Amino acid sequence: TSSIDLSAVLSDLKLQLTNPGTWIGSKSFSGGSAFSSSSPVDGSTIGSVSSTTESEYEEVMQAATSAFKDWRTVPAPKRGELVRQFGNRLRELKEPLGKLVSFEMGKSYQEGLGEVQEMIDICDFAVGLSRQLHGLTMHSERPGHRMYEQYHPLGVVGIISAFNFPVAVWAWNAAIALVCGDVCVWKPSEKTPLCGVACQQILADILEENDAPAGLSCLINGDYKVGEWMTADKRIPMVSATGSIRMGKIVAQAVAARLGKSLLELGGNNAIIVSPEADIKMTVIGAVFGAVGTAGQRCTSTRRLIIHESIYDQVKEALVEAYKQLRIGNPLDENNHVGPLIDQDAVASYSKALEAAQKEGGKVLVEGGVLEGEGYQSGCYVKPAIVEAENHFHIVQEETFAPILYLLKYSGTVADAIEQQNGVVQGLSSAIMTQNLREAELFLSAAGSDCGIANVNIGTSGAEIGGAFGGEKETGGGRESGSDAWKYYMRRQTNTINYTTELPLAQGIKFDL
Ligand code: NAD
Repeated sequence: TSSIDLSAVLSDLKLQLTNPGTWIGSKSFSGGSAFSSSSPVDGSTIGSVSSTTESEYEEVMQAATSAFKDWRTVPAPKRGELVRQFGNRLRELKEPLGKLVSFEMGKSYQEGLGEVQEMIDICDFAVGLSRQLHGLTMHSERPGHRMYEQYHPLGVVGIISAFNFPVAVWAWNAAIALVCGDVCVWKPSEKTPLCGVACQQILADILEENDAPAGLSCLINGDYKVGEWMTADKRIPMVSATGSIRMGKIVAQAVAARLGKSLLELGGNNAIIVSPEADIKMTVIGAVFGAVGTAGQRCTSTRRLIIHESIYDQVKEALVEAYKQLRIGNPLDENNHVGPLIDQDAVASYSKALEAAQKEGGKVLVEGGVLEGEGYQSGCYVKPAIVEAENHFHIVQEETFAPILYLLKYSGTVADAIEQQNGVVQGLSSAIMTQNLREAELFLSAAGSDCGIANVNIGTSGAEIGGAFGGEKETGGGRESGSDAWKYYMRRQTNTINYTTELPLAQGIKFDL
């Protein structure tokens, strides 16, 4: 199927053609001017959403702040029960929500379903977590004293998300924040606002069915100015922001200026090192999926291949052959491998990057270009390109959010390849393809990859929710999703209890009255 029954999807998800953009649970406001969301699949307008006004934002913050006062005292496993029900509702709505993700963002239907599956998985993870959230005990130096540390709910968590994972990133934050006793105010990307309204209503129904405070989950909509209200707002102790490095630098400074916490998930410039001892067949599959999957619009997309000179030509030829097989077109048609970019601005950045790479001396191996004609009317479909380049090129140092793969060469040992891999400002995802244990272990060692994610014999793209997700350097340093990322959503407190009749002071200090 290459088309969807859009009206059925919209009605399953309780969406209208014009939708309120501001929500406190299921209570909505639509005072601001409307902006429309169009599909990069066929260029059609899907619907519109109203921008949040300043006074609506005030109402949201009052509701969220007061909901937090209740929610923080609800036992964590009871909070988990709400998230469990939310995960079940997502199971029921997986198909329409997956279709909306695919149609509004332009990723394949399989990937749309995959995103909803990630939401379900993080709910399951959060439910288990709700019976843990454990601190530590430590031995006191004073007799008859007990010392421990515990984690308490933090408050209102502000979530700013990017267009490319329009539902999963919010769920990663919201599921964990809710079991931690926090409440959420979410500003989705202005490029995918309907996904935001759909998710909000799904969770709002669960809140209502449980008589939970509506302010536990709030939605605001609009461009960066609406985001700025949150970054400047002292009532929000933590802002979790996913998007470009440019945005992260602004958000980090605004939040730091009021000494708030920010959790940043920013751009990547991910590389796969291909050693002479790589399995070439696996390498080609991993590299092609990493470079062209989601049309190169994943933060973990493969941008650079760092190939040993001894196998360079072999890998290059295999890649050029593989690119010939790629079918570009409607992402709802499962025969296609590559769908559209999000909008025409993204197409312009793609074309500019290809020009810049050639100006700097890059050699095009697989020609790019913007597609026109039947099926490509949205103007957002481009051809995945491969360019031979060098790591120091300005354009190679940047993240271009499009399917452009740069081939780089290394000679010498894997240490040389690691140096190139680390020689960019970003530090999100990285991989090595090798069957040599020494190379693999060096890559994972303290002298190896400097990224938040480092893989052996799988590509850079995609991750499971069980691990902490995020990157170093200008990727922002944040970690969300699994492992102990939940600690970021809570405040830590150290407690010392004296159960004697004496009051000994620490460090043996005497203070007699
Ligand atoms: P973007 O930076 O343009 O926008 C992201 C969000 O930030 C939007 O909601 C936007 O309205 C908001 N925003 C922008 N300026 C702001 C400001 N000054 N104050 C407050 N909010 C502001 O990013 P995009 O084009 O939507 O997404 C693509 C980028 O996101 C890529 O760089 C990609 O690598 C990155 N990304 C990173 C991760 C990760 O986990 N590391 C995941 C997904 C996407």
